[in-house]
Amino acid sequence: MDARVVIIGGGNAGLSVAGRLRRAGLRDVTVIEPRGTHVFAPLQSHIAGGVARASEAARPQQDVTPRGVRWVQDAATAVDADARTVTLASGDVLPYDQLVLCPGIHMDWDAVPGLAEAMDTPEGVSNYDYALAAKASPVLRDVRGGTVVFVQAGSATTCPGAAQKPMYLACDWWRATGVLADIRVVLVTPERSLHGIDAIDAELRRKVEEYGIEVRRGAHLLAVDSATRTVTIGTADAAETLAYDVLHAAPPQSAPAWLEPTGLTVPRSSGGWIDIDPETLRHRRRPEVWALGDAAAIDAYRSGGGLRSQAKVLAANLVAAVRGREIRARFDGYGVCPYTVSRRTVVFAEFDRRGRLEPTVPFWRTLYRERRFSWVMDRRILPWVYWHLILSGRA
Ligand SMILES: Cc1cc2nc3c(=O)[nH]c(=O)nc-3n(C[C@H](O)[C@H](O)[C@H](O)COP(=O)(O)OP(=O)(O)OC[C@H]3O[C@@H](n4cnc5c(N)ncnc54)[C@H](O)[C@@H]3O)c2cc1C
Repeated sequence: MDARVVIIGGGNAGLSVAGRLRRAGLRDVTVIEPRGTHVFAPLQSHIAGGVARASEAARPQQDVTPRGVRWVQDAATAVDADARTVTLASGDVLPYDQLVLCPGIHMDWDAVPGLAEAMDTPEGVSNYDYALAAKASPVLRDVRGGTVVFVQAGSATTCPGAAQKPMYLACDWWRATGVLADIRVVLVTPERSLHGIDAIDAELRRKVEEYGIEVRRGAHLLAVDSATRTVTIGTADAAETLAYDVLHAAPPQSAPAWLEPTGLTVPRSSGGWIDIDPETLRHRRRPEVWALGDAAAIDAYRSGGGLRSQAKVLAANLVAAVRGREIRARFDGYGVCPYTVSRRTVVFAEFDRRGRLEPTVPFWRTLYRERRFSWVMDRRILPWVYWHLILSGRA
């Protein structure tokens, strides 16, 4: 009998692994996914920054589920790793031989007092949510003066640098329309640097200086008061209150809480991520359980670009395990963040888990520099590759 593979989460990770497993010849592959619409999150930055339409980032889940893969439209609520079953919100129970966990990251809008309420006001926007990204586009476009505060969340989030992307796009637009000098732009980031790798920091610093952006480093968002339109931010030394006319915020993020009782995660105090070997992507205690993507302890920058190699490694290792062979594939911790530093250029930051540059074109060591070529890749080619090749497990 063929191995019964159950995949929890039909996002970027789940669909690309499902496609790869089917292509490798496994016939019984089921994806559990509650959403009826699949969203390509990286485009939310372009949408918020006014250079893509919201409709470009969304497709019916049915249309992107790889051929031959069974889609169960439901949410997993529990895993019994001893019995090898998954319980669904509907009450149904699915048995598995191999389990792949990839339910993504939880957006914790309630973790900062006042943040969720602020997002319900006309001035509150974010690229970290599909609807709020669509809302951001006209809001940022129409700013003519005042203060715009952009907030980046901590490093244990998905593509942390994405918080900066609509900021650069908006600044470029404001410069082109002659209002940039009248707008105070503040970036609040918990990090000490803009990205964390010297060569990339230098590229981003140049743009920050060009646009006149004030950067509050090592600063966390502590509270938002949408009635007075103020944010309180805190550094190790002091708290500061900033008035805003527009607030663009990335929310704090965390591992999905329902995973904790499964016994398959590291302790909540260490993040609560699924406890896999970050190279083989196999669970440390349960050899028939695997994980990848934003919910897994991958010990690397969380990015969709990194998922391409994770999906390849996981599928190869899972198939080898099913066929009784040694598992050989290893994930090197590749991560990527394409910073849209203007409406026609990108700083394409690619690196491994130790922070060494890892360009896709190996001999092109300076590929990371601000380039028009990278814009075309990021804005035009990668979305096409995503919809047509990645989700079906062909790239
Ligand atoms: C604003 C933004 C910009 C980004 N920009 C880039 C970029 O430019 N480049 C890049 O490489 N990466 C980028 N990323 C990161 C990239 O999108 C993520 O790393 C990637 O989507 C993670 O894939 P995933 O499958 O782990 O999670 P997701 O794609 O979030 O998918 C998780 C899926 O699991 C489902 N799910 C949740 N709970 C359950 C449950 N209980 N049962 C069943 N299913 C469940 C969800 O509905 C969802 O469909 C960005 C992310 C954001 C938010």
